[in-house]
Amino acid sequence: MRPFSYARATDVDTAIAAARDRPDSAFLAGGTTEVDLVRQNVLRPGLLVDINDLPLTSVEDLPDGGLRIGALARMSDVAQAPGVVQRFPVISQALLLGASAQLRNMASMGGNLCQRVRCSYYRDATSPCNKRDPGSGCAALDGFNRGHAILGTSDKCIATHPSDVAVALVALDAVVHTRGPRGDRAIGIDDFFPLPGDTPEREHPLEHGELIVAIEVPAAPIARRSVYLKFRDRESYEFALVSVATAVDIQDGVVADVRLALGGVGTKPWRARRAEQSLLGRPAGAASFAGAAGRELALATPRLLNAFKVELAERAIVRALATLSNGDAR
Ligand code: SF4
Repeated sequence: MRPFSYARATDVDTAIAAARDRPDSAFLAGGTTEVDLVRQNVLRPGLLVDINDLPLTSVEDLPDGGLRIGALARMSDVAQAPGVVQRFPVISQALLLGASAQLRNMASMGGNLCQRVRCSYYRDATSPCNKRDPGSGCAALDGFNRGHAILGTSDKCIATHPSDVAVALVALDAVVHTRGPRGDRAIGIDDFFPLPGDTPEREHPLEHGELIVAIEVPAAPIARRSVYLKFRDRESYEFALVSVATAVDIQDGVVADVRLALGGVGTKPWRARRAEQSLLGRPAGAASFAGAAGRELALATPRLLNAFKVELAERAIVRALATLSNGDAR
């Protein structure tokens, strides 16, 4: 581990100024991923700007029915907030199925969105990895890729995005609010996660010194009836092989509205728009659900060890939709 400087900021503008003036700086929030990566020499900041004292921890119910989550709100606090549990259960469930209780008490919502991939080749700091060392290659393409992505991949990177709650937020069209050296921005969450393409080292659109200040979830009555299902190798403290965030409005047995997003299978939290389009106006039943799942997964590019995710994702979509349409959203 290399030496670095440390500064503690107490207001947003001071934090941004401290980071802006040092190109080798990074913000430090919960540190649940970042500190590991600094220890492993994957990240090598010259300055860490600690932002834990910034007043960005609130979880507010907005008058129009939406939600505003401070960037430094801890995962566990957001998961238990009454407005989240009652009006956006898919967010609460996704948070509670992520990480461990200890990590959820430390990890911030903004940090969750910015967390780095769990690809072991990225983290070993020696294997070829275009995300860590652009142009060096991708050891996962023909390596141990059982946990890697099948949607949104490129020949430069196939790492999955690791966040659970981001999948729920993508399904609900959340907006990421930032402040940086060039002012304030609002970024639609789907645009917050770029596809790897030829530049997998670009993991989000934040500029140097730009800080997430809040995440807003627009009012969505459909979300009262929503669910997050996660399928993984063990029941706790494990990343998703496949996960599904969905909300459905069924009128007279027909799908009137639906939100559907997938985790564990995409290089970004994957909004399943093809499946959504396929479901609208169709009977809320197994045949429609399976057809929609098949349409979405037709986009998949599986590799040697992760081909099983195609069928697993299809079955997970059907299970999640059936859970809601059967009236049992737990
Ligand atoms: Fe690196 Fe992405 Fe390849 Fe993993 S999948 S080795 S993160 S380029």
